[in-house]
Amino acid sequence: MKFNLEEIIRPNIRKMSPYSSARDEYDGEDAVLLDANENPFNPPYNRYPDPRQRMLKEKIGAQLGVSAGNIFLGNGSDEAIDLLIRISCEPGNSRIVAIEPSYGMYQVAAETNDVELVKVLLNKDFSLNPDAILEKCDPRTRLIFLCSPNNPTSNLLETPAILKIAENFMGLLVVDEAYIEFSGSEGLIRELADYPNLVLLRTLSKSWGLAGIRLGMALGSASIISYLGRIKYPYNLNSLTQDYAMKAFNNTREKDSFIQEILKQRDLLRSSLSGLSYVEKIYPSDANFLLVKVKGARELYNYLKDRYYIVRDRSSMPLCEGCLRITIGTREENEGLVNLLQKYTGS
Ligand SMILES: *Cc1c(COP(=O)(O)O)cnc(C)c1O
Repeated sequence: MKFNLEEIIRPNIRKMSPYSSARDEYDGEDAVLLDANENPFNPPYNRYPDPRQRMLKEKIGAQLGVSAGNIFLGNGSDEAIDLLIRISCEPGNSRIVAIEPSYGMYQVAAETNDVELVKVLLNKDFSLNPDAILEKCDPRTRLIFLCSPNNPTSNLLETPAILKIAENFMGLLVVDEAYIEFSGSEGLIRELADYPNLVLLRTLSKSWGLAGIRLGMALGSASIISYLGRIKYPYNLNSLTQDYAMKAFNNTREKDSFIQEILKQRDLLRSSLSGLSYVEKIYPSDANFLLVKVKGARELYNYLKDRYYIVRDRSSMPLCEGCLRITIGTREENEGLVNLLQKYTGS
């Protein structure tokens, strides 16, 4: 069997033509624009943004080494997650397979679209079991969500295991690479050309330090990307976000220095935590957070919260019993945290 995108795209989406906006029909510059009922005053933000975000996609494409036509830009990765479901899944009928534990948005987006999400546990060491995932796929399964490095387990998933799934699954395989820049790995971007059913998610929310501007992306074949473009809101990325992202991509050294500092702080925090008696395990991390197994997770969480240090209690998630997820902060923030942790004597 061979992957056939047309069989995965919902018939109504295959047939529809997108809303054509004024800014879509005329895209030249230096014209007198009397076509979109915009206000002539208050430039530049009186104008609708470019619905196809061409300049920004060229810029990002050059940076990542992919063509603009292989990039979808959205209001956070969350938009891409939702639209991937909406191009492929029939509400009340199709299914999605995802790993567990992982990012909660896959479930929320699946439920919103009335699509059943089937969860497959990672192995005890948080590695991927490709056969277990493939076993859960049936003809109604249109999508698989993987996350690498995975949230909250913080590890990269093994490339051969991911590619085994890509080869044997006839739907879309989505790999969320929100944390890839902290891993030292390039991720799967070079595999896109060989795997037409592979879609990668990237975001400016983590390594770029730009969670507030809401910019996420999906990378994939030009045909998948064009289906996403058909159903998105025409002006899903506002001008402020596009302008700010342009600036960020013109100064990638700032992002690189954020990453270097966070990796350094990750090592320091790991070694400080490892000396604490109630810390049972600090999992290896390929991301900007540490998953830490402690005695009395809920009590420790509350102790920190009462002192205005907020971490994430993940102890109710499968395979994460007793675990807190701690985001790497600035040196001062981490030292403040460690200070409190050293004073903690248990409940
Ligand atoms: C933080 C995070 C994102 C980012 O989502 P945005 O909507 O782009 O901010 C995506 N995936 C995972 C797994 C995350 O943890």
